Amino acid sequence: MLGTSTSSVTALLLLSLLKKLDKLRDRMESTHRITKSPYHRYKMDFTLKIYRKLLETLQAQGYKFLTFEQYCMLGLRPQDESLNCVTAESPSDKQQETSATREANIDSPTHQITESPTRFIILRHDVDLKAENSVETAKIEHSLGIKASYYFRVVPDSDKPDCIKAIADMGHEIGYHYEDMSLCGGNPEKAVVHFAEKLAYFRTYYPVKTICMHGAPTSQYDSKDIWQFASYKNDFDLIGEPYFDVDFSDLFYLTDTGRRWDGYKVSVRDKIPTYQDVWTANGWVYKRTDDIIRACNNGSLPNRIMITTHPQRWTDSKVKGMQEAIVQNLKNTVKYLLIKWRSK
Ligand SMILES: [Zn+2]
Repeated sequence: MLGTSTSSVTALLLLSLLKKLDKLRDRMESTHRITKSPYHRYKMDFTLKIYRKLLETLQAQGYKFLTFEQYCMLGLRPQDESLNCVTAESPSDKQQETSATREANIDSPTHQITESPTRFIILRHDVDLKAENSVETAKIEHSLGIKASYYFRVVPDSDKPDCIKAIADMGHEIGYHYEDMSLCGGNPEKAVVHFAEKLAYFRTYYPVKTICMHGAPTSQYDSKDIWQFASYKNDFDLIGEPYFDVDFSDLFYLTDTGRRWDGYKVSVRDKIPTYQDVWTANGWVYKRTDDIIRACNNGSLPNRIMITTHPQRWTDSKVKGMQEAIVQNLKNTVKYLLIKWRSK
């Protein structure tokens, strides 16, 4: 009895703190937002159930799913039609295309997709922490005939051999989520050697062809700077790095950074500065996953999108979800202050 009331008081205190932080940051961001309780704001989002619903909705609307490796191999160029053009299709056409897509995705090895879809999602996951959660999203995708790209770090909470192997066995792409400059204290020679070692390690699970930098917000080093001292394409036989090899004039970017889909406002490095203003002007601003699902259903979602998720925040556990939300909220506030401080 006493334990229950103590945890209730703790929960209330945490919620009150969360609400205060939200209000503070809202005021600083100067965005108009209807104030709702933290319970309302966080409940029911970033669950595996909603994740499955998002993927199913995208499939039903005719989006094909690509790994980043497939995107790079296809060499997709900007399309003639507008990024936000909605093709008129009958529901039955969409259904047929969805079934065909599923079969193509199940039957074809990663490197054998040759068609260039008009409407597609590059599905990318940055496995920053809690690698076990990635196995769960990988299973959901596998059950829907979707292959995605999973980028692993070398830190113990990400580099879990059983998880990497399980995800590779499902046919997903594995890549290296590198941060060698930070890990080697900004020493470029050491960083390049470290990168080579770790890339070779991840290639024991999968023939890694793409990599993606980990944008550690608190590090003074930018992981991408390593490429001022080596070439990932020429020296390491790699074909793509999202921060260099995606044409964002032709592709809309969605990321769950900051546990919100409009987290670019509080992100230090995971954002696309030049095009974000255009996307915002077009009204492509989504906060909750339900907002994206709604936009997909009403045809206002752009045709070509890269979606990046961090599977550590996707869980059906209410306790873990709330913990994640509280920690993320604190991080967002720190990151926001960091951005303000650095821009001074
Ligand atoms: Zn990361």
